[in-house]
Amino acid sequence: MSNNETIFEKILRGEIPCKKVFENEHCLAFHDISPQAPTHILVIPKRKIVNVMEAGDEDAQLLGEVLLAARSVAKQEGLDATGYRLVFNNGADGGQSVDYLHCHVLGGRALAWPPG
Ligand code: AMP
Repeated sequence: MSNNETIFEKILRGEIPCKKVFENEHCLAFHDISPQAPTHILVIPKRKIVNVMEAGDEDAQLLGEVLLAARSVAKQEGLDATGYRLVFNNGADGGQSVDYLHCHVLGGRALAWPPG
């Protein structure tokens, strides 16, 4: 488990700018700096969870808030009609590069499967 501060904590504090698209009491959503699809947004909880593997029972509600925020973001960005993908990368083999739980909201084109 990593307790080191990540770039997302700096974004939450406003120390590093982001292109914010959604915010509520529990979550913040902003454009990914390196988009992998026409729409690529990250949703993060305002309280740190490292990843799904590290989440505890006490995080159940906040994890739900992340999913609901991701749905709101997708709707706001007009992805409802055509669909979209939500991704949580977990750990090294999952391709997680930032140790702060985040949900990728990807859409705007047909996405391939398997992801590789
Ligand atoms: P992951 O590889 O699942 O941990 O995803 C981390 C994501 O954070 C990557 O898609 C990066 O492009 C994105 N990212 C890294 N730094 C920033 C930043 N400063 N602002 C927005 N997105 C970022």
